[in-house]
Amino acid sequence: MLPNKLLLHIKPAPVIKMLSLTDTTFDNCIKCTVCTTRCPVAEARPDYPGPKQAGPDGERFRIKSPGLYDDALKYCTNCKRCEVACPSNVHIGTIIQKAKARHDGFKQGPREFMLSHTDLMGTLSSTTAPIVNVVTAMKPVKKLLDKTLGVDERRTLPKYTFQTFRKWFGKHAGNQERFDRKITYFHGCYTNYNVPAVGKDLVAVLNAINIGVRLTAKEKCCGVPLIANGFLKKARKNADLNMTQFAKSLDAGSEAVISSSSSCAMTLRDEYPDMLDVDNSAFKDQIQFVSRFLIKEFASGNKPEMKPLNLKVAYHSPCHLIRMGGVVHTVELMREIPGLELTLLDQNCCGLSGTYGFKKENYDTSQKIANKMLEQIKTTEADYIITDCESCKMQVEMNTDHKVLHPVTLIAMALV
Ligand code: SF4
Ligand code: SF4
Repeated sequence: MLPNKLLLHIKPAPVIKMLSLTDTTFDNCIKCTVCTTRCPVAEARPDYPGPKQAGPDGERFRIKSPGLYDDALKYCTNCKRCEVACPSNVHIGTIIQKAKARHDGFKQGPREFMLSHTDLMGTLSSTTAPIVNVVTAMKPVKKLLDKTLGVDERRTLPKYTFQTFRKWFGKHAGNQERFDRKITYFHGCYTNYNVPAVGKDLVAVLNAINIGVRLTAKEKCCGVPLIANGFLKKARKNADLNMTQFAKSLDAGSEAVISSSSSCAMTLRDEYPDMLDVDNSAFKDQIQFVSRFLIKEFASGNKPEMKPLNLKVAYHSPCHLIRMGGVVHTVELMREIPGLELTLLDQNCCGLSGTYGFKKENYDTSQKIANKMLEQIKTTEADYIITDCESCKMQVEMNTDHKVLHPVTLIAMALV
């Protein structure tokens, strides 16, 4: 059953009153500065003060005097690499995002609305996908978007699919009821509107180990682009809807809620309580990234028959999966594929960070951050680059000749 807390209807109110915009973990900071050594933005832009100063140090000042808010906080990508490095469990990225919300530090123009409302943009774009894809690839259109909205013209815009994943699934949902065991799949916006193949591969892999897939009756964007652009009220509304849907699904017999996007999984599991004050403790452990769920099944003997895949692949680990502690699950999963030659790339941020690298003022920073990862990829002889994140995929495919696949797609390719 859904905990009462989740059923509470929050009356419309300014977001500042609705959410707690102070994260008190700043008190745990022991001033070791390890976080600053791990921040890709601090390395790329000397005008960014870095996580220690922007996070716990700055918070102490901002609480005393709001006038000490530093506008440079807008450069934080919320990649969470600082949080991974912190030995004191300071929620540095969350502190910075909450400070931005408290001090009106999010710019919220038409560009931010367009980039962050992925459900709306996906619905509009997928119905006319063949036209949208041609138009948004045209140089004059990109120039216009650059000049009018500030979406950098050098950035490749995402392609949309005419048949969404949900539409495809609707034709196959009946087949799923034949399985005794079932999970609920949170497909996310990118799988639904841009690359449904990942969702189809996930269904194939789960069916191969005798697990059926369900979708929730309704699904909204997890909220990661909304949080990144300060639309916290909308993100909270989406979170409430998604959590209500998950509760119904789990009540109806689903064993887990699985996401194939590392950023969606991190948001559903960690950002809902930390950033949006949504209590998901009743089923937090059941919200899982797909590779964690699969490797546990494989380890317990529920493994599909796989043929050798004689391919060389290089794996890029996304920041938000690192934050979740989930990289080991994806690596172990790929190691199950016979014949696969796997190289692990160094753990560098891709720099795109969702909507961040699309913005004109962030493009150069985004590309500078990406350089370490791109240089390494350019020297690999891999047939494919593998990553769990759509943002990393877009960045690699825009900057190299490599095709990027999801780890679940590799497993699907190996199925007999
Ligand atoms: S979240 Fe990322 S960009 Fe922001 S301070 Fe931490 S490491 Fe730097
Ligand atoms: S790593 Fe953690 S404890 Fe060390 S300075 Fe940064 S926030 Fe403080």
